[in-house]
Amino acid sequence: MALTSKHLHDALRTVKDPDLGKDLVTLGMVKDVLHDGNDVKLVIELTTPACPMKDKIRGDIDQAVREKAVETGEPLGRLEIEFTADVRKANDKAREGGNPLPLVKNIIAVGAGKGGVGKSTVSANLAVGLARFGAKVGLLDGDIYGPSIPTLMGLDDIPTAARGNMLLPFEVHGIKTMTLGKLVDPDKALIWRGPMAHGAFKQLALQTDWGALDYLIIDLPPGTGDVALTMSQLLPLTGAVVVCTPQRVAQDDARRAVRMFEQLGVPILGVVENMSYFVGDDGKEYDLFGRGGAELMAQQMGQPFLGSMPIHMALRRHCDEGTPLRNWEIPALGRDIDALCQRLASQISVAAMGQRYVQPTLSVR
Ligand code: ADP
Repeated sequence: MALTSKHLHDALRTVKDPDLGKDLVTLGMVKDVLHDGNDVKLVIELTTPACPMKDKIRGDIDQAVREKAVETGEPLGRLEIEFTADVRKANDKAREGGNPLPLVKNIIAVGAGKGGVGKSTVSANLAVGLARFGAKVGLLDGDIYGPSIPTLMGLDDIPTAARGNMLLPFEVHGIKTMTLGKLVDPDKALIWRGPMAHGAFKQLALQTDWGALDYLIIDLPPGTGDVALTMSQLLPLTGAVVVCTPQRVAQDDARRAVRMFEQLGVPILGVVENMSYFVGDDGKEYDLFGRGGAELMAQQMGQPFLGSMPIHMALRRHCDEGTPLRNWEIPALGRDIDALCQRLASQISVAAMGQRYVQPTLSVR
């Protein structure tokens, strides 16, 4: 007997998304099931174009459909599996009032316990990396005290533009970005009292015409200050990424950043270890700061580890030149950034789906 739609759905019910822990049918990921005799075409919608589990899911589907064909007594003909992606939206409501950015599916803050650990570098590369996978990405420079996105993204010669009272984001390297650095004199010291910092961040976040985005990455100022508080009250965050270098002193600062997000009720999506080690021209790896330190910290704090980036002279150069896409010209570096993006994307999918499947509980005292 030839395979029927029911057979194919039954087979797909046995295939789980490894990150989400549920089967493809329950997750609503099966978009089309076509069959002609025992030639089959399946369209599967992933929860992110940067899904790290695509190959595993493909293999599992292949096996499940083949087994079903054997059960029905007719060998499988051609099997075509097409993947599409639709990033799932996480939380829809801000803590107070409605969602001020309803077209943005996921908002991710990138923080660090202190400056200079590569928080802006990681934010910029995550944004550009996720866009390379095909996602619609925005990058908000929330570091209103020391905005570095103009340099990292090469915005110097691009004029600012507005429509009505909305700022138009800069569209560069496949992403949309906004920074205070393009709105004020670059040499002016940026000193903000608490309420002014609140106002500046709010304007940048809400008066930018982001349009529809899968991911909005927010590069926070270092440390644990006003902007993080404003952000967590203003925006419905999917979660936060904490960037850390491996040394013990950096870990202590990163711990404080993790605690800050916990206090603000922002889930931690993961820890990134930057400047993990140094790769010399001879290809030899030098363990300058105690590679693995941030990973250990993440483990000890029960937080996910998203991966690491070594110190790379070319990465620094591309940051200074505002040419982030050139990082992918160096295969090992491109692979490291892609892996970070994929792990982050899967954590975001888990967070978004988790919220969908969490049953509200009623506590009766
Ligand atoms: P933060 O945002 O934490 O203050 P930045 O992202 O501005 O830090 O990075 C500080 C400096 O270190 C920048 O010049 C950047 O180019 C450089 N840098 C960051 N990460 C790396 C790395 N992995 N390899 C080489 N240079 C790096």
